[in-house]
Amino acid sequence: MDERRLDSMTAQTVDLLQTLIRNECVNDGTTESGHESRNADVLDQVIAGSGVDVERFEPVPGRASIVGRIAGSDPSAPTLCLMGHTDVVPVHADGWSNDPFGGELIEGEVWGRGAVDMLNLTASMAVAFRRLADDAATGRFRPKGDLIYFGVADEESGSAHGARWMAEHHLEAIRADFVLTENGGLHSGPTDAPFVGVNVAEKGVAWRKLTVRGTPGHGSMPFRSDNALVKAAGVVQRLADYRPAPRFTELWRTRVDTLGLPDDIKDALLDEGSIDALLDELPSVAAAAHLHACTHTTFSANLVDGPGMKTNVIPDHVEINVDIRTLPGDGPAEVDAHLRAALGDLADHVEVEIIMNDQASISPVDTRLWDSLARAVNEPFPTARLTPQLVVGFTDARIYREMGAVAYGAGLFSPELDAGEFGSRFHGHDERIDVESLALTTRLWDHVCRDLLT
Ligand SMILES: [Zn+2]
Repeated sequence: MDERRLDSMTAQTVDLLQTLIRNECVNDGTTESGHESRNADVLDQVIAGSGVDVERFEPVPGRASIVGRIAGSDPSAPTLCLMGHTDVVPVHADGWSNDPFGGELIEGEVWGRGAVDMLNLTASMAVAFRRLADDAATGRFRPKGDLIYFGVADEESGSAHGARWMAEHHLEAIRADFVLTENGGLHSGPTDAPFVGVNVAEKGVAWRKLTVRGTPGHGSMPFRSDNALVKAAGVVQRLADYRPAPRFTELWRTRVDTLGLPDDIKDALLDEGSIDALLDELPSVAAAAHLHACTHTTFSANLVDGPGMKTNVIPDHVEINVDIRTLPGDGPAEVDAHLRAALGDLADHVEVEIIMNDQASISPVDTRLWDSLARAVNEPFPTARLTPQLVVGFTDARIYREMGAVAYGAGLFSPELDAGEFGSRFHGHDERIDVESLALTTRLWDHVCRDLLT
């Protein structure tokens, strides 16, 4: 492909990303939020080329997802889906240096909510898909298996109006053997032979609502009262103090190897008997939290609520929402056991309700998609090596892995991006992406699709 054509693809990705950011598809967790139909409309126009069939699905008003398909020539050949979510999380505009929904291009970076999570990928996938559709129409791209573009709503609040709903109601529209989605492509390790991360696994999500009951009374007479909030405080404290044992996944050693650490620290991180003591003392709290999350099932009590709570009423009913993220192997029974261990004698006073229960998921690396990705990354970076990683958050990849698909979080960023600083932009202030990364990622999708499907 000639350089001019590549540059025009980058320009289209920049332009599309700006439009998607300006559409402000903010998902605050309520059904009425998101408004992803705005981004679905834009993406529909971009991907609908000659010979592309675009379907639209809207489980509730305003929350559309779209699916585009370039039909392959061989129904038995593996199919590939490029999946990008179209929603973003809310902002605290006071913390931003520029308009979070301006989509401005400032000194080579596109600014705004979604610039890294993940409208950058959603936009670059759409541009690559459109080029492939145009090439399919002229015979320059002849895929054996289908290529699918899935612009999906509601990833940021658990996928109920997006990928989860589609998997339950329109599975045939989105089913694929291979899936590329958020989020990989950061460089680490030696610059002459860098590692490029690919997310192949993610922790499970086991959100729980804990209800604590007491006896109502007047706030003016608290002596010997049975106050549900006081009991709840004890529950929250025990969850915070709980120290479940570390457990290493098969990806942990690989991860530690790519960090370029001194041997003594490396040894401690790879020893289940000494990792906790090391993390307790690590100067960087952010690094400790990340490394801890990679090696432990975690518990975070993040929300307390109760019906009719009032300053002068001793509450009889308090709810605590706990964000639990599980390691591979920790299912609902293990989560129950953790909670009993954490709460001790208070466990008998707590009712546990499941909010979300998606287990950890992992895709193998000995696949054709992995090999295609490696070749595509080696195009601009001939000495780079792919390294498989575990994400501690969740993405829609988990829903495809449940269906048996191989799903990777991918992308390709500028080598100059600092992984730590970059990580802080996810759901943080001053989210932005450089144009060079948008160019690299757009070309990556184009290359992988051609490599895998033809
Ligand atoms: Zn995301």
